[in-house]
Amino acid sequence: MSIGVLELQGDFEKHHQILHTLGMESIAVRSPSDLDELEGLVIPGGESTTVSLLIDRNKLREPLKAFADIYPVLGTCAGLILMARKVLDTKVNPLGILNVVVRRNAYGRQIHSTTEELTFFEDGNSFSCPTTMIRAPRIDSTGSSTEVLGSWKGHPVAVREDRHIGLVFHPELDGVTHFHQLAFQGIKKNSTRK
Ligand code: GLN
Repeated sequence: MSIGVLELQGDFEKHHQILHTLGMESIAVRSPSDLDELEGLVIPGGESTTVSLLIDRNKLREPLKAFADIYPVLGTCAGLILMARKVLDTKVNPLGILNVVVRRNAYGRQIHSTTEELTFFEDGNSFSCPTTMIRAPRIDSTGSSTEVLGSWKGHPVAVREDRHIGLVFHPELDGVTHFHQLAFQGIKKNSTRK
C-alpha cells in the first residue's frame, strides 16, 4: 500500500519515516498524477497560506478533493488548516475535507510551542502520547459527524470524520505512529463519490 505525502512546502521527511515504520510505502505528491495508485495522503505541517497558494499553482485543488472523496487523508497542523471547511483567515482557501472551523496560530507564536502528554479516546480505547504544538491552529467548531478524539484547553486537538483525521499537533516529531496507523491501516475506500 502506498501513501502520499504532500510535498509543496513544510515538514515532510518525518512523515515518510513514520509510514515506513508502519511498513507502508510512501511517495512525494507534487502534481495531480502523483496521486495515481495512492491509497491515502498526508498533508504535513508548514505554512498554510503558502501551501494554499501552491495547491492552486500546481493544479491540485480539484484532484485533492476528488482523492479525499475516496481515500483517507491525515492532516497535521497546517495540514489540518487546509482540510478545514472554514479558516478564520482569508489568506487560506481550504479544501473542505473536514467539517471544522479553525483559527490559525490561536495558541500563540513559535516561542509558545509546547509538548503536552495528552490522552485520546477512540473506539472505546484510550491511549496517551506526547503532542507537540508549534504555532498550532485551534479548532473552534466541529460538525455533527465530526468525532473528537482528544482535547486540550477546552478545544479538540484530534478529530476524525469519515475516513479522515485532522490533528493540531505534529505526531511525526515525537515518533508517534498511532494516528498514521489509525488513518491508513485497514483502509476502506469509499466507493461512492460524494
Ligand atoms: N501556523 C502555521 C499556519 O498557520 C501552521 C504551523 C505548523 O504547521 N506547525 O500555517
